[in-house]
Amino acid sequence: MSAWDPDRLLPDYVRRFEPYTPSRPDPELAKLYGCGKIYRLNNNENALGPPPSAQEVIRGFTPKRAAVYPSGDSYYLRCKLGKKFDKDPNQFLVGNGANEVIGFVIKAFCEPGDNIITADGTFAVYEWTAAFSGIETRLIPLKELCFDDEGMLNHIDGRTKVIFICNPNNPTGTYWNFDKLKRFIQKVNKRAIIVVDEAYNEFVEKDDYPDGMSLIDEYPNLVIFRTFSKMYGLAGLRIGYLAGSVETVQVIRRTCIVYSVNSIAQEAALEAIDDNEHVMKTLAMVREGKTFLELELQKIGLTATSGEGNYAMIKLRMDDGLAYRKLMRSGVMVRTMTGFRFPNHIRVTIALPEAMRVLVRELENIL
Ligand SMILES: *Cc1c(COP(=O)(O)O)cnc(C)c1O
Repeated sequence: MSAWDPDRLLPDYVRRFEPYTPSRPDPELAKLYGCGKIYRLNNNENALGPPPSAQEVIRGFTPKRAAVYPSGDSYYLRCKLGKKFDKDPNQFLVGNGANEVIGFVIKAFCEPGDNIITADGTFAVYEWTAAFSGIETRLIPLKELCFDDEGMLNHIDGRTKVIFICNPNNPTGTYWNFDKLKRFIQKVNKRAIIVVDEAYNEFVEKDDYPDGMSLIDEYPNLVIFRTFSKMYGLAGLRIGYLAGSVETVQVIRRTCIVYSVNSIAQEAALEAIDDNEHVMKTLAMVREGKTFLELELQKIGLTATSGEGNYAMIKLRMDDGLAYRKLMRSGVMVRTMTGFRFPNHIRVTIALPEAMRVLVRELENIL
């Protein structure tokens, strides 16, 4: 008998795929870097936490209910989303974070030989999910930090199944306006599914920013992603969703994982989505934080790119991995951007004033 070698059972595309290593829990990092308090500026979480109404639901969850399966298809939440956006509840599919619904879409439409199209400087999970599923990704370079519509159109062929657009883009903060998105959808002309990832939708205050939800009835191949992780402060509960035409969502339902969204997440989301006051408070925090950062970074000779969203990308004059380790010694946790194809850049979440002050102080120290 030879030694156990699971490798030989793997498809080539899985063998080639490098697994993602998430960062360690905060207490482990604090020990490792010898810091006390940690300022989490790496994941675009909401520093204000979940809305008070959602916090109440979380506190009120009867422990005994943990023994009971949740609604397998987030029934009440889908009804609520239907009411809020004036859609049929069957136009929504809820997942264990928006991350999970990326997999639903790729599994539903793609098989080896097919391709997806996205940008090279964007959220990497589209590309990763395609890669370990054996699907080719066509990465179109950003143009002036923005998704390149013409470039993407030029790369569509008969095997292109899904096009992912991150609007506004993580990490550059750029966005396509209403006219640009509409023109793009018309030019794609039903050849492929168009996913618009609106993870940061609630942070955008520009008048010409398109609300994808208003277009899904007109364009049946359009799919919108939203999440409760960013604005609604529920990242730890893992809940996000997709929306589209009834016909498209009906198809994606075949590959969705039922029962993957826990009861507390469903109930907290049900409350969070109505809390406009929390949205207003968060927007004020982000506005103030961006203004402060831009001003203070300029004073120490650094440039930041912060468009829409609750994050900014900062260009350094050193390796981003090195900057990460140095900043961690003071408890400032940022996102390195080499993996997003922006070497020597870090992305920081716009958070409370204290965290922003510490960030600027420590950036000045390490430079
Ligand atoms: C954070 C993020 C997501 C994933 O959110 P989850 O719901 O936490 O899985 C998806 N897309 C973008 C662009 C994000 O930044």
